Amino acid sequence: MTYERRKTRQIHVGSVPVGGDAPITVQSMTITKTAAPVPIVADIHNQYKRALEALEAGVQCIRLNPGNIRNAEHIKTVAAECRDRGIPVRIGVNGGSLDQKLYDKYGGKVTPEAMVESARVEMAYFRDVGFDDVKISVKASSVPLMVEAYRMLADDPFFVDADGASVPLHLGVTEAGPMPAGLLKATAGLATLLLEGIGDTIRYSLTADPVEEARAGRQLLESLGLRERKGLDLIACPSCGRAEVDVIEVAGRTQQALDGMNIPIQVAVMGCVVNGPGEAREADLGIAAGRKRGHLFVKGKVVKVVPENEMVDALVAWAGIIDSEGIEKAIEMGDPGAAAEADADRALLLDEQGEDANDAGTRIDHIRKLEEER
Ligand code: SF4
Repeated sequence: MTYERRKTRQIHVGSVPVGGDAPITVQSMTITKTAAPVPIVADIHNQYKRALEALEAGVQCIRLNPGNIRNAEHIKTVAAECRDRGIPVRIGVNGGSLDQKLYDKYGGKVTPEAMVESARVEMAYFRDVGFDDVKISVKASSVPLMVEAYRMLADDPFFVDADGASVPLHLGVTEAGPMPAGLLKATAGLATLLLEGIGDTIRYSLTADPVEEARAGRQLLESLGLRERKGLDLIACPSCGRAEVDVIEVAGRTQQALDGMNIPIQVAVMGCVVNGPGEAREADLGIAAGRKRGHLFVKGKVVKVVPENEMVDALVAWAGIIDSEGIEKAIEMGDPGAAAEADADRALLLDEQGEDANDAGTRIDHIRKLEEER
């Protein structure tokens, strides 16, 4: 399934295209020295002269905050300089530092309308000097507010050019906070918009290492199918009364062992052989535990049965086989007796545990009793 992306103009931040048919990009805020070969965006507040200095220093993009650089002539000076140097600008509206005049105009509240109007006012200054190499953000720390502001921006004909392309959008939930709550908050906002085809570049603003921000961005795009998977997609069952191993522990070790291998596969860690291989039959590779052994399966087909303490090593070895030989060949290379061994283990477990290993019948009776007592 693909999502129809809204038509935007393409700009270039250094060698990275943003908007148009370019892949959605991920950016982060660096707190390290910036002599790296990635495009640098200088984030400018309050003093327009800092923007001119940053341009002189050779940055690849400027972000201007319309909320705290408000003098029209100053903004036009920066815009003209960017135009002459061919450097794009992000008009970075922020709910927390909205222009006071707009704040007052909209009843002393930060509203989506006020944020979009701020972007319009700024964009008009850029157009005055014949420059529209611009992307826009309307960030807020409230998810519903930023989602609504971006939707309005995306629908606003003011930002559409003669070719029908609108301005590229940079998405973000600002000051999302520490993980995991910050990650959830940012993902809620970003994913909602991306699934509507809105957004050309994204940033996670987490109170965390910038590497985590970049990783979160990449993983979000991969999980939405908006970027080709480059690495591991680990799935694991939630575990239940049937689990034959500590699924959290095995999944953690698997993640650690496979993360650095950069193999674009989905790997499943399942707690039992009764339901595991079936439930995870779509995974490229998986392991399910049972009777102190691990059943290793490729696309649902059991290829090997290994001792429980070798489960993670076996996953690493077979991930390598899939990477070098492909799925079909890996299945062919499986142990011919593995499927029969696995069936026998499964039958024995079902015998031992019965069909109702989670004791659901007793639980249901208990709940019914409680309801009757009410
Ligand atoms: S039935 Fe098996 S695979 Fe499913 S949650 Fe329980 S342990 Fe995991």
